[in-house]
Amino acid sequence: MQRPSRLTLAVTSACNCRCRMCSIWEQNSGTVVTLDQYRTIFSSRSLAGVTNLSLTGGEPTLRKDLQDIVVIAMDSFPRLTQLSLNSNGFAPALLEKQVQKILSVQGSKCQLSVGLSFDGIDKVHDKVRGVQGAFSRLSDSISRLESLRKSGSLFGLSLRCTITTDNVHQIRDIYSYCCRKRWPIIFAVASAPDAYISAEGKRDLFALDEEKLESCRVFFLEMAPNNAYYSRAADYIKNRRRTFGCIGAERRAVLILPDGDVMPCGERSRLLLGNINDQPFDEIWTGEQARKVFSTIRQDACVACPSQCYPTEKRLSDDIKPLLKAILPAPVIKSLQRLKLNIPTAKR
Ligand code: SF4
Ligand code: SF4
Repeated sequence: MQRPSRLTLAVTSACNCRCRMCSIWEQNSGTVVTLDQYRTIFSSRSLAGVTNLSLTGGEPTLRKDLQDIVVIAMDSFPRLTQLSLNSNGFAPALLEKQVQKILSVQGSKCQLSVGLSFDGIDKVHDKVRGVQGAFSRLSDSISRLESLRKSGSLFGLSLRCTITTDNVHQIRDIYSYCCRKRWPIIFAVASAPDAYISAEGKRDLFALDEEKLESCRVFFLEMAPNNAYYSRAADYIKNRRRTFGCIGAERRAVLILPDGDVMPCGERSRLLLGNINDQPFDEIWTGEQARKVFSTIRQDACVACPSQCYPTEKRLSDDIKPLLKAILPAPVIKSLQRLKLNIPTAKR
């Protein structure tokens, strides 16, 4: 059975922002997975192959024992090479301190990447984040982390812009602004996994109409004609169908929420596998509910999913699969499938 290489932990639902497109801060019950629980989860056989750990929230830096979670992960995952921290950058001093603490324990084999949400310039960012002064705090966070890097700390730093009705008019300005500052930024049209967006009517606050979606598509193609990420995003807007794979659907990614819910991605209501307060992680991953979810995940959830969080890398087999399908007899294709070479279903 396939085991996850990518583990995402939403370590808290607490947040110091009030983003218009998010319900997490409204849902925060104070419940979190404890350090002891993480220790148990991380020792699961199904997680022995984790190479990539992503810490998110809520705002993960609000969790006082964040460094301890990293220490346990470093001890538990011998193959861990990528660690990412997603933050809103709203608390610059706290973020800087948490990054320093993580760097002090992350080990030489592991590379830290910090991703900060950048959703507009000045008041536009404040409006999206729902808090006055958010932009100046974010700018301070970026400056502090840049200074850390200049002083020799080794970690990646990038910005992410979620495109909504509030900032779609500004995306070109945002891109130019960040280019002038030499800040790498990546754009994504807001999607709405229900682990993050649950409040009635929230989607209407950020969902783009056809005209705005088309302007995003043109922007994606213009700014990066040879960039696979933006080609996929533009393609999705054009076809409203997912044409690329996802490691979530391939059982190579798993997300654990602060309340212990386990799922391949943020589609909680459709893809919930279980809860670590009720069952050990291995039982969840190999159990009947997981079998059911993964047997129908592509048609139930993935086919129209715009998320670019877990795209499958393009493989040589992606190019030769159609060719093999066309030239090989069905029995040969079936034999190859039995060898798990991921060949498409034979025509009958
Ligand atoms: S989107 Fe992120 S920063 Fe904004 S309220 Fe939700 S968890 Fe907080
Ligand atoms: S394609 Fe979307 S719905 Fe399917 S596993 Fe990936 S993120 Fe989840």
